[in-house]
Amino acid sequence: MPLHETKSDSLPALFVSHGPPTLPFETIPARDFLSGLGAGMPRPRAIVAVSAHWETTNPAVTTRVKQTTLHDFYGFPDALYQMRYDTPGSPELAQQVQDLLSKAGFPTDGDSERGLDHGVWTPLTLIYPAADIPVIQLSIQTDLGPAHHLALGRALAPLCDEGILILASGNITHNLGAWARLRQLGQDGVPDWVTTFQDWVYEMVSAADIPALLDFMQAPMGRENHPTPEHFLPFFVALGAGIGDQNSAVLGRRLHHSVCYNVLAMDAYAFG
Ligand code: ZN
Repeated sequence: MPLHETKSDSLPALFVSHGPPTLPFETIPARDFLSGLGAGMPRPRAIVAVSAHWETTNPAVTTRVKQTTLHDFYGFPDALYQMRYDTPGSPELAQQVQDLLSKAGFPTDGDSERGLDHGVWTPLTLIYPAADIPVIQLSIQTDLGPAHHLALGRALAPLCDEGILILASGNITHNLGAWARLRQLGQDGVPDWVTTFQDWVYEMVSAADIPALLDFMQAPMGRENHPTPEHFLPFFVALGAGIGDQNSAVLGRRLHHSVCYNVLAMDAYAFG
């Protein structure tokens, strides 16, 4: 079934889990899913990407004319550092995003230096390998919590009707300390505390329970999966952008679910 079947210019807002920086090289179901994702949607005019890996005090957008690829990780294979995803940027779209956020009461900044971090380009290199769609990135504000990010997303909702893809990238579960501990102990398999939270997110989206989602740290195994919240906050930007001002009984749907490296749930959602 196509991702979207209504207005031709209208796109859902997406949340994807980016997993490890080596995502483009992994032989995992999430890689296969992301590789087929672009073909199932109308081609976006441009992309506003939000990643867990750019945290600022105020919402900031990249204003570069041509993007550059940030290799913001350490100790990975050389081939990963050779990869580039230098798409066009879009100062015009960056301005439009700043205008929408200003109208909603957010102070914003433009950043003419920053490129695309791996939370953006490792999934995008699978979704749109040609790197020919303009991309701008919007930062997150970890200290301001889930409701702030839902409001950011709601402010950007009009873009979804203009053929702009809101692509938020984080991870449904993200406890790297636990991953290291399990590895040390030689324990394989997906722990129950990972699937408990993974299932909970699916159930709350299915029940359209936004208050519960906003309180995800108090969810069953919430803190265990998100010792720090930044990898789940982009989820709320996609949710807000997809639903806009509507109090819909249907928020969206899960497009994919899997787990890699025992503790990284790789689920993806489409909202709107
Ligand atoms: Zn990450």
